[in-house]
Amino acid sequence: MYSGLINKYRDFFDFNKATTPVSLSEGRTPLIRAYNLESIFNQDIKIYLKFEGLNPTGSFKDRGMTAAVTKALEDESKAVICASTGNTSASAAAYAARANLKSYVIIPSGKIAKGKLAQAVVYGANILSIEGNFDDALEIVKKISKEHNITMVNSLNPYRIEGQKTAAFEICDDIKEFDYLFIPVGNAGNITAYWKGFKEYQEKSLIKYPPKMMGYQAYDSAPLVVGHTVKNPETVATAIRIGNPASKNTALDAIKESNGHIDRIRDEDILAAQLLLSSKEGIFAEPASAISFAGLIKAFNEDLMPHGSTAVCVLTGNGLKDSDIILKSDYSYKNLPSDYKAIEAYILKEGLI
Ligand SMILES: *Cc1c(COP(=O)(O)O)cnc(C)c1O
Repeated sequence: MYSGLINKYRDFFDFNKATTPVSLSEGRTPLIRAYNLESIFNQDIKIYLKFEGLNPTGSFKDRGMTAAVTKALEDESKAVICASTGNTSASAAAYAARANLKSYVIIPSGKIAKGKLAQAVVYGANILSIEGNFDDALEIVKKISKEHNITMVNSLNPYRIEGQKTAAFEICDDIKEFDYLFIPVGNAGNITAYWKGFKEYQEKSLIKYPPKMMGYQAYDSAPLVVGHTVKNPETVATAIRIGNPASKNTALDAIKESNGHIDRIRDEDILAAQLLLSSKEGIFAEPASAISFAGLIKAFNEDLMPHGSTAVCVLTGNGLKDSDIILKSDYSYKNLPSDYKAIEAYILKEGLI
């Protein structure tokens, strides 16, 4: 029986033999071939979507959290703490509940998608909302975890990266080598983790070559693109609204070593990509996740991808977490009487079917 990614990839972790993982059977997410999206590009490229929104709390953060919380228990920590744009707090709260640990989550006031906040509440986190952004919250968390026996479970915790690298393993287990990995970049832990995973698989000769790492940031939250910290980052993609990425150096290394690319995408193009994923493929990813597909569109239009390339887009989180973003914009529905004839007349109206 599948029992989570630590048991599955135990040889790639350094936990004690006797340690039982804190797991919600995270990982083993589907890699979905996007035939309808491929037709937009005249079948010039092959596209796969790694749908991480199907993890237990709806984002890839669960991969890192199973490892970080397992380690916190090994170390006899009493609580976990994180700064969060939403998904880390949801995941930390769930895994802390599973491990009988307390959790503290520090979030930027008013800037968290409602579904994510609801998760932190229901899993029983101590939620501390501050009048600052993610970067401010992370500075506080780093200090508290240094002074007290509370484990920081942000991606600066190396076990987060260890857990998250397994997504790279899974893709290679499914399709072996491929050419491009498109991935959102916020605090830059995940791109760091994927690169580590691909390199470990290459060292063990499980793949011949790693993909090029294609990282994408939101236009007004793009410190790695503009080359300096962004004081007041803004974007609809709240999960990557980060002005000072903690793992910037390892992210830039990954891009350089893989001959990859880093770029930024405007909010309207992020939302357009989100709609393409949902309306063409039936996959509802949150805005931060859709930036990986928006990145693919941009890279294709800039002729960065030769004919016949294979690309994987990482869809980091589930769209249900942020339904407000969809319902805020114009969406169409018809008000009709509760009446068979009226509904039938509407459906049969010229041009509808
Ligand atoms: C955390 C998160 C990201 C960004 O990942 P980093 O490791 O911070 O770069 C992207 N998308 C979603 C949905 C996330 O939750």
